[in-house]
Amino acid sequence: MTTHYRITLLPGDGIGPEIMEVAVAVLTEIGRQLDLTFDCTSALMGGCAIDETGNPLPDETLAQCRNSDAVLLAAIGGEKWDRLPNDQRPERGLLGLRAGLGLFANLRPAQILPQLVDASSLKPEVVEGVDIMVVRELTGGIYFGQPKGIFAAETGEKRGFNTMVYTDAEIDRIGRVAFETAQKRRGQLCSVDKANVLDVSQFWRDRITALAPAYPDVELSHLYVDNAAMQLVRWPQQFDTIVTGNLFGDILSDAAAMLTGSIGMLPSASLGAAGPGVFEPVHGSAPDIAGQDKANPMAQVLSVAMMLRYGLNQPDAADRIEQAVNRVLDQGDRTGDMMSPGMNLVGCKAMGESLLKALQELA
Ligand code: NAD
Repeated sequence: MTTHYRITLLPGDGIGPEIMEVAVAVLTEIGRQLDLTFDCTSALMGGCAIDETGNPLPDETLAQCRNSDAVLLAAIGGEKWDRLPNDQRPERGLLGLRAGLGLFANLRPAQILPQLVDASSLKPEVVEGVDIMVVRELTGGIYFGQPKGIFAAETGEKRGFNTMVYTDAEIDRIGRVAFETAQKRRGQLCSVDKANVLDVSQFWRDRITALAPAYPDVELSHLYVDNAAMQLVRWPQQFDTIVTGNLFGDILSDAAAMLTGSIGMLPSASLGAAGPGVFEPVHGSAPDIAGQDKANPMAQVLSVAMMLRYGLNQPDAADRIEQAVNRVLDQGDRTGDMMSPGMNLVGCKAMGESLLKALQELA
């Protein structure tokens, strides 16, 4: 029986449309192979939406996303819109989409592919085999806590402050996503906090610990954030899944991602309690190479794999796409961002064709 999915595509700006084209071709091929139908419809978001409608996230786009099984986003933004007031910029579209779909969990994998081990800034023996998933809380914590602001005290002294706050429900729902993610991986979950100093972190630790008995197949550990940062560069192989709050996750997920050394290879997923998730590369719209057939489409294609695994529960399809990516790298095909001596320099389109061929060989 054919399984049918409605996918909203948000190609966005810069290299977005080029890498999205490759991703859609890959999605169509995997659908053909595994009897899955993807009904893909494009919508406007980001700079292109500002140009057409004056709004980075038009109401119709959000409505269409809400009505989908998953949203595949490329990248948004560019210099053309950089001088607009903050509340009218392309990035507002991204924040509006997260809020509009209630996306509270951000999943960022950092995996070292053996073919790209030399791209890391760390020694090969330190990064070989690294395969980490950072689960970051996305809609709470100090970025959104109230009260906040910059105020003048009666003494004349000025004060700026934010509030780091988490409710039990907020911690429990991100905790559950993290335990379930660890179950789909190697069954180890490390919760990162600053419980030795912050009350909010002690509360975080207590709630995460209380969830553990419901997941007997997951081994839970805890680290303070300063130690976690140190361990990530000292011995990253020790980590499987990491769960942490918004601020610590922002920093640690970037650090973990950079262990891999190649921004064009990094996908991400943002998930809510119900409804569609958003799947997108970590990188931006790369205006410096847009329209030149130089973009690496792998992060976008790996975002398709994340969409299949975490959004649509089609792990076999996700596995096959990841195998195709591996096969193409084994062949030596490289876009400029990950080029090294002796490899075969290809453009975005040619990389897409290699991926399709590899997929067909795996069928
Ligand atoms: P960027 O990630 O777009 O580019 C950084 C560098 O990496 C550039 O040299 C670029 O050419 C290269 N690069 C990125 N992706 C690549 C790929 N797939 N293949 C090959 N090379 C790649 O970051 P930036 O230059 O800081 O930002 C450019 C624009 O993107 C800005 O407007 C920014 O606001 C926006 N941005 C959007 C998102 C998003 O859509 N989620 C994220 C980050 C930045």
